Amino acid sequence: MSNLSAQDSRPHIVILGGGFAGLYAARTFNREPVRVTMVDRENYHLFQPLLYQVATAGLNPSDIARPLRSILRRQKNVSVLLADARDIRTEDNCLILANGKLSYDYLIVATGATHSYFGKTEWAANAPGLKTIEDALEIRRRIYLAYEAAELEPDPGRRKEWLTFIVVGGGPTGVELAGALAEIGRHTLAHDFNNFDPKQIRVVLIEGNDRVLTTFPEDLSSKAVRQLESIGVEVITSTCVDFIDDRCVASGDWKLAARTILWAAGVTASRIASCLNVPCDRSGRVAVLPDLSLPDTSSVFVAGDVACIITEDGQVPGVAPAAMQAGAHAAQNIMRLVRGDQTIPFQYRDKGSIATIGRAAAVADLGRFRFSGFPAWATWLAIHIFYLIGFKNRLWVLLGWAWSYLTYQRGARLITGRHDYEKLPDPSGESNDPVERELHGEAVISTNLSSGDTDSPRGEKGSEST
Ligand SMILES: Cc1cc2nc3c(=O)[nH]c(=O)nc-3n(C[C@H](O)[C@H](O)[C@H](O)COP(=O)(O)OP(=O)(O)OC[C@H]3O[C@@H](n4cnc5c(N)ncnc54)[C@H](O)[C@@H]3O)c2cc1C
Repeated sequence: MSNLSAQDSRPHIVILGGGFAGLYAARTFNREPVRVTMVDRENYHLFQPLLYQVATAGLNPSDIARPLRSILRRQKNVSVLLADARDIRTEDNCLILANGKLSYDYLIVATGATHSYFGKTEWAANAPGLKTIEDALEIRRRIYLAYEAAELEPDPGRRKEWLTFIVVGGGPTGVELAGALAEIGRHTLAHDFNNFDPKQIRVVLIEGNDRVLTTFPEDLSSKAVRQLESIGVEVITSTCVDFIDDRCVASGDWKLAARTILWAAGVTASRIASCLNVPCDRSGRVAVLPDLSLPDTSSVFVAGDVACIITEDGQVPGVAPAAMQAGAHAAQNIMRLVRGDQTIPFQYRDKGSIATIGRAAAVADLGRFRFSGFPAWATWLAIHIFYLIGFKNRLWVLLGWAWSYLTYQRGARLITGRHDYEKLPDPSGESNDPVERELHGEAVISTNLSSGDTDSPRGEKGSEST
């Protein structure tokens, strides 16, 4: 693989990762006298900010992903390779791929981040996180399967477990997921079941800090909580979850039974970062120099969520605009080196943050302008549509959204993947599963509280120790 273009004397730049950072780096090399190879283990660029819409059936995967080959097809100096990078040998200027080797003159590592379960990797099976299309489809499967199971379940206590949805982590993704889950019960599925009222679902958002959306100003955090509560989400703060299994979440002596638990609490840099053998921060992100290069080698740059970038204004956040800017900056610095010039430090232009909560509900912090409710939601919508890669996608998604907004429908409500039909409730009520009976007895303790009661995690009110 390293000899593919051995005759070409132009500097060879390899971009590892076709996310926001990698893509904006590739575009910056347009018309430059260099040869660029984009390597990604997926054949598409994924617009992660709208993944929660796929997870909750508002959008289809193809609405938020587009083939890298198609995005870059007009850029003649770029080739795209589908490959999984396993190692980086900076001493030999080459990438070790699952299926071979790829040499470079300059490398941009832009492999992003993944979920972190703070060392409790066993929680992943019971509380999936949201990072890839596969994650989104798995979450969608669990959400809609829970409603089907509730329809089959004759026992009210057990049915309540199926209709309790817990989101761990009150950052933007957790808030978006919780808001969307509440809307599914209150609107989308409100009239679709005979044996229960979907409006009775319980959605609980659990956050370890003393407020949700900690990167936003406090007044917007409070407004977000009010908007969440107005659509029926219970928000629990200052609570670090210390136990998760397939039936419940617990913290200290507090426990809440639920069949659908979603994880939105932590991120860690992608694994390949550790192959660079340079200092990393607590989340595994590579500590880069101010020009985004690695210490001791000027041929490797790191950009996006995998990089720990500290500027004069502090640490650059792990958000899409920062990844785009850093990817472009790394590419510009490489071109400076190719021309024999000095590299320059990265400066982040913070354009503000917006978190959406649900239909016409959001909070926006755009520097001097802070607002919430419908104006924030409309701004969020416009920005996300604008940044969706590809005109066809944008138009289609906008039309789909307008339709969902008017009708409350979520068109992608397919339960895909393999189901364990044997584990679904017995509609006759005669469950043969002794484990289920045993767990059920335990779990009913916490779900028998009405949704108006707060199962206080600190045991102040209505707490049920186990
Ligand atoms: C659910 C969710 C919602 C979000 N919402 C927002 C939002 O509203 N606003 C916002 O600004 N940001 C949001 N973000 C954050 C934003 O998406 C990230 O900051 C951004 O995607 C980072 O870009 P990146 O290029 O660094 O990494 P990514 O976009 O993650 O891209 C990394 C790429 O590297 C590839 N890759 C990784 N490892 C390998 C390997 N070993 N070999 C080959 N290829 C590899 C991956 O396949 C991927 O294509 C959200 C993130 C998530 C997960």
